Amino acid sequence: MATSSITQALFAQAAQHAAEYRRTVGDAAPPLSYAAMHAAFDAPTPERGMPAAEVVEDLVARSVPGLRAMTGPRFFGWVIGASHPVGVAADWLTAAWGQNAGNHEASPAAAAAETVAAQWLLDLLDLPRDASVGFVTGATIASFVCLAAARGAVLRRAGWNVEADGLFGAPPIHVLIGDDAHTSVFSALQFLGLGHDRVVRIATDAQGRMLARDVARAIVACAGPTIIIVQAGQLNTGAFDPIGEIVALARQCGAWVHVDGAFGLWARACQATAHLAAGFEAADSWATDGHKWLQTPYDCGYAIVRDAEAHRSAMTIAASYLPPVAAGERDPSHFVPELSRRARGFATWAMICHLGRDGIAAMVAEHCRLAKHMAARLACEVGVHVLNDVVLNQIIVRFGARDADDAADRMTLETIRRTQADGTCFAGGARWRDRWVMRLSVISAPTTEADIEQACDAICAAWRGVSGSNVSR
Ligand SMILES: *Cc1c(COP(=O)(O)O)cnc(C)c1O
Repeated sequence: MATSSITQALFAQAAQHAAEYRRTVGDAAPPLSYAAMHAAFDAPTPERGMPAAEVVEDLVARSVPGLRAMTGPRFFGWVIGASHPVGVAADWLTAAWGQNAGNHEASPAAAAAETVAAQWLLDLLDLPRDASVGFVTGATIASFVCLAAARGAVLRRAGWNVEADGLFGAPPIHVLIGDDAHTSVFSALQFLGLGHDRVVRIATDAQGRMLARDVARAIVACAGPTIIIVQAGQLNTGAFDPIGEIVALARQCGAWVHVDGAFGLWARACQATAHLAAGFEAADSWATDGHKWLQTPYDCGYAIVRDAEAHRSAMTIAASYLPPVAAGERDPSHFVPELSRRARGFATWAMICHLGRDGIAAMVAEHCRLAKHMAARLACEVGVHVLNDVVLNQIIVRFGARDADDAADRMTLETIRRTQADGTCFAGGARWRDRWVMRLSVISAPTTEADIEQACDAICAAWRGVSGSNVSR
């Protein structure tokens, strides 16, 4: 076969496998264990090559038994989007085109798609239209990028150039962060030399919201460069920090306010939920994900910064071999840590085109409605307790007893185990207020009310099995 027809057959083969996987994903059995999968892949380093079609067949045969049904309609684990087929198709093309998205001359199309998708994101999320956007791997690196910009800006105001001179000898930066912030934000602080423990932790309420009066108290002790990190959408409860009060306090002392809004910021893209995230537009930077509520395939996150100059200074230095950027041009690499990377703008552009503003709003509203419905149904079952106010798409559930209690911890963990083993749906566990909970996140595009009913039936059946047995003793 000529090279072109080999390529064509190979791509068709991959597409066929992908379509077949998607057709049956909702009915797939729970995946084999890591150990079983390691054994399936384990082999000596290949000495000689293998024909392309065989490689693809072999990859599919080995992988599929160990895939988790994250794109299926009854996956409620972590907070994970469903890699929408339109985003996947765009992403395949991205890979096939092989564009290095570093600069606008290397790939005019990749750079332009990103520029336009960035503008659409600002519009949909109703953030300052002249903010800058970096297309990164996810909210973790988005927070890293935003906090790098924050670090540079607050130190510049104190007469220090951290980009040039580093942190040694720099004025100290105060970092205020809620007790229930996502661990990934602490990772970002760790990467930036700000330390994951060298922070002022702000107490939170029962829903995980920062207490504004504690922020007010803490800020009094913060003379000089200060960064306040808030959350739009707490990972367990979906709660939003009291942004209005926090921004007012930040303004008084010139603090930078960063928002971790990995999924919750998308409440702003829906009229029915926008009130939950009102006021977050007053912050200085925002981290959010495409691969959660926008349903792009992995990986896709957005680092958004009000002060585009601070964003750029934190991420780039000029190099003589890279083309200069004229007014009106934009190099994707100026807003992210990487030079060479995937052209994530294409999948983002495609998803926004496909869903449209009204489609995104309808999806967010529907997921929030389904979450409320799911929580109400589960709460009807004797011994099942929903611990959070279901304001968004997140539900935390405890089995046996609401309070901290070892027996209820064991029953909750056993209910999670049985639910996962049954395989009708997937839900994971989390620690909340020193107790184990089942965490349910309704955020997959294909999820319908029928899926919620099926999942609730499966979870209640698992729980009845546990409560009827002697797991508690
Ligand atoms: C998922 C999540 C993150 C981390 O995002 P990644 O895309 O996994 O890097 C950060 N914060 C919150 C609130 C999240 O839900």
